[in-house]
Amino acid sequence: MNAWVKRRILRLCATDAFATRSDVLSFASRITLAVVLVADILNVAAHLTLDAFGLLPYAVVPAATVGVIITTFLASSLTFSILYIVGLSIHELSISRATFQHLSQTDQLSGLLNRRAFLEAHALHRGDASLVVFDIDRFKALNDSFGHDAGDHAIVSVAAVLTAMFPAPHVVARIGGEEFAALVVGLQAPERLALAQEALSMVGRSPIQLGDQVTSVTVSAGVAEFSTYSGFGPLFAAADKALYLAKASGRNCVLHDADISAQIKKNALNGNAIQPLLPIARIG
Ligand code: GH3
Ligand code: MG
Ligand code: MG
Repeated sequence: MNAWVKRRILRLCATDAFATRSDVLSFASRITLAVVLVADILNVAAHLTLDAFGLLPYAVVPAATVGVIITTFLASSLTFSILYIVGLSIHELSISRATFQHLSQTDQLSGLLNRRAFLEAHALHRGDASLVVFDIDRFKALNDSFGHDAGDHAIVSVAAVLTAMFPAPHVVARIGGEEFAALVVGLQAPERLALAQEALSMVGRSPIQLGDQVTSVTVSAGVAEFSTYSGFGPLFAAADKALYLAKASGRNCVLHDADISAQIKKNALNGNAIQPLLPIARIG
């Protein structure tokens, strides 16, 4: 019984059944009505049974009427009070639960989803999609020149651009200091790549107001396809490798994982020396 009540309360919290006070009021009223109805029926039935066996010391109609009035009053006031108080507690619990869930999934600086929520979104996603990993270019220099608060401001500004560029059903998150990730869903792979490209140029064109100065930042991005890699680790590693090469190729550009070999050759031809790839960080 205890376990059943506990399970039921948890389910009510999870389903938002008591999201508002009026939900609680309506729940308490509905159940009270049902309880009073059942109590009155039992009351009348008990009077009739006692009367049939000659065990009722009073006339059945006035006795049953008084019984129903008392039962209605007691059952309704008691049941409603208890249900309303329990309902309000569940309502408060649901609010705390929702607040906690929101906090545990949100990056406090940018308001975007955090890395954990992004991993969950990836795990839940079915169908074709691209992972795009963005990293702000030469961000340390911006911090050094304008200060840490200005850096924070730039992060918020880039987050706003990415949010606008990747509305739902796409998913955007801040997955590290000046790193963002987008789960670009639907569309065809070339269109998803084009969207990443567009986001990149939109970041570069967006002014960032720092007191009385205006600046802007650029980002580099690496892209990898869901259909090529199973699991977040390998997918992220591929996108991160492409990002690393995009940085090495001059920054402010997007590189697709499938174009890595071609880009390495191109860089070699251009005499653009590329550092050996660092060990790839795996997350998830
Ligand atoms: P690259 O173009 O190669 O990405 O160079 P970078 O300077 O952007 O990269 P690097 O990894 O050298 O520097 C990242 C800097 O980001 C270092 C760290 O102090 C700063 N940073 C990380 N998180 C935050 C944050 O939340 N706010 C601010 N203002 N700075 C941060
Ligand atoms: Mg970085
Ligand atoms: Mg950077």
